[in-house]
Amino acid sequence: MSVNVIEVKDVTVAYDNTPAVSSLNFTLKKGTCTAIVGPNGSGKSTMIKAIMQLVKPVSGKVTVENSSSKQALKNIAYVPQKGEVNWDFPATVFDVVLMGRYVHKGWIKRPTKEDKQIAYDALETMKMLPFKDRQISELSGGQRQRVFLARAIAHNADIYIMDEPLQGIDITTEELIIKTMKQLQKEGKTFLVVHHNLMTVPEYFDHVVILNKQIIAQGTIEDAWTKENVNAAYFEKGVGTWTS
Ligand code: ADP
Ligand code: MG
Repeated sequence: MSVNVIEVKDVTVAYDNTPAVSSLNFTLKKGTCTAIVGPNGSGKSTMIKAIMQLVKPVSGKVTVENSSSKQALKNIAYVPQKGEVNWDFPATVFDVVLMGRYVHKGWIKRPTKEDKQIAYDALETMKMLPFKDRQISELSGGQRQRVFLARAIAHNADIYIMDEPLQGIDITTEELIIKTMKQLQKEGKTFLVVHHNLMTVPEYFDHVVILNKQIIAQGTIEDAWTKENVNAAYFEKGVGTWTS
């Protein structure tokens, strides 16, 4: 039987009284790699922010592992969308990855030898160990995304939520991120990922949510990833269709 790790029930989020997403009903199944797709401005980031309690819904409820407390969010490693993070912050690559451990310890306690080893291993996995002493302001886009994923790995959460992690990065980094995601999935982790490239959805993911302010479709790739559903989200009648 499949377990729901996240449940979004009838959630509406508005900015300045204008709804960005309306009446979302969604369940994230444990052990899946689920893509969220939809055109620009369709509310993908807003949906994720509602899950992360970064925006407050005007109505509806989100639960993470059956809890709506802040505490439950500790089991989620969240990688925000590019541009929402200040990379001028003075910190080394190693510092940022080590921050993944603070979720468990709080800010007061010093990192242990074990914490440092976990951070090293995460950097190794993302092939970023040679850059460990580099300032994060001096990294390329792909390298930053690797550091973020290394931090998520160091966090050792069960749920990973990533907002367009493959946007504007090199193909080597893309392959490494997908390979790592699939490896972690084998270990029982769950992924919810905003994804912008329609062509790679079926290759990278096993479940999909198609969004355009409302949920157009959700489910397995086999059931939900149809031309009708994609066209319904991306194209208005007469504007064009997606045909591949
Ligand atoms: P996506 O991630 O799919 O591109 P977003 O969730 O970022 O979409 O945005 C959905 C809608 O909400 C857009 O129309 C956007 O302009 C609006 N929006 C997002 N964030 C804010 C905000 N902080 N204040 C006002 N409007 C916002
Ligand atoms: Mg977005």
